[in-house]
Amino acid sequence: MNLRKKINLYTSVLFAFLLILMNISVYVFFSRLIFENEYTSISNEIHKITAIAHESMGTVPEDDLLRAFVPVNGMVRIVAEDRKVISAVTSSDEQELSRDQAEFFNGEVISTLEQDNSLYVLSSVPIVLPDGAIGNLQLTRSMETAAGILKTLRIVLGSVTLLAMIPVLVSSAFLSKIITNPVTSMTTTMREIRESGQFKRLTLEGKSKDELYQMGETFNHMIDLLEANFEKQKQFVSNASHELKTPLTVIESYSSLLKRRGLKEPSLFNESIDAIHSEAIRMREMTEQLLLLARHDEQHKLYIKSIDLKGFLRQIIRTYGEVYKRTIDLEADIEGVTFVQTDENKLKQLLFIFFDNARKYSDDVITVSAGIKEYEAYIRIKDRGIGIPGDELPKVFDRFYRVDKARNRKTGGSGIGLSIAKEIAEAIAVRIKLESTEGEGTAVTLFLKIT
Ligand code: ATP
Ligand code: MG
Repeated sequence: MNLRKKINLYTSVLFAFLLILMNISVYVFFSRLIFENEYTSISNEIHKITAIAHESMGTVPEDDLLRAFVPVNGMVRIVAEDRKVISAVTSSDEQELSRDQAEFFNGEVISTLEQDNSLYVLSSVPIVLPDGAIGNLQLTRSMETAAGILKTLRIVLGSVTLLAMIPVLVSSAFLSKIITNPVTSMTTTMREIRESGQFKRLTLEGKSKDELYQMGETFNHMIDLLEANFEKQKQFVSNASHELKTPLTVIESYSSLLKRRGLKEPSLFNESIDAIHSEAIRMREMTEQLLLLARHDEQHKLYIKSIDLKGFLRQIIRTYGEVYKRTIDLEADIEGVTFVQTDENKLKQLLFIFFDNARKYSDDVITVSAGIKEYEAYIRIKDRGIGIPGDELPKVFDRFYRVDKARNRKTGGSGIGLSIAKEIAEAIAVRIKLESTEGEGTAVTLFLKIT
């Protein structure tokens, strides 16, 4: 049985039970009152008759005496000890009463009796008959009026019970609907989530912020949290795979170089070992960073130090160019040595993201220039490739955004490189400027603080 039916059934049965109990109590109380009233009235009456009968018995014939006291709807009679009726007078409406077998009682008695489906009240008191024997003076009176009132009362109370059940049934149906609707919609939403694998929210209705509304709200918050965690995990996996691609390629290409020519060329051996070693360290740091970000949503941990910009660029351009077999020109417009304060590995990660794009979206030579401009150092990576349409420029930093997906399909990117670049740049306080002309090429300029 579902919840709605249970609420319906329990409330209806409870209300019906209470109503019936209440009406039965009213009926019992009222009928007792009516009977007591009848008993008191008949008792008073018979005592009055007895008093007069005692005085007049013997002088006035019994029948005449009784005729004076006969009620309009009953009978009065004198019964001897052997249950023989000495005298009886019956009202014209209740003639059948006279056929009733008389009884003799020893003391004073009041009781009800039923005859031919009619209810009567009988009162009997002992009297001394003129011959000195003991007899009973009995007064019987119809209770039709009282029975009629009680019948009407039964009909009224029964109808009231039935009528009162209508609003009870309606309100219990309404109540069960109010309670079960949010539960049902929550179950439906959960089922949809399970079947579609997508996070959905409940549509919350009603302005009264009751417990059911709060339950819905809590459910939605929980889904928010689950979705946020799920997104974070997804982001972690995509970031991790994107960022590990380049160092793994560097390691792979240098190790195969070592395998082929490493033993014959000692200089190549040293260079390869250096590149592999530094990429391995960078990879370890990167995984630590990624784990940290995924777990606590913490800020990037920075290892700031002074680095010689020119030397640094020369080294990473050499590694990158070597690995991807691309020509990268360095035009350093720096006199002497310029030191910048930054996190070396993060800057490297940032440059690799832009090198990657320049490599993927152009076939010509890539030019890297560096210099000083108004208290800032800059690094510009310029390619002569397909470029980015002007209206798409602001969107390329969005996660998973790719310009013209079909065009880029062969390069197999997923559109997260630049969103990671934006995050890293913010962490190490680097400003990015992106300029591009479709069909001509793209230039990315990074501005760094100088020591
Ligand atoms: P991923 O870097 O995740 O492998 P991706 O390179 O497509 O994939 P992003 O690096 O975020 O993703 O770049 C977003 C989009 O911007 C690219 O899909 C490309 O269309 C465009 N874009 C970025 N850099 C260049 C560039 N140098 N030349 C032309 N288009 C570019
Ligand atoms: Mg990219």
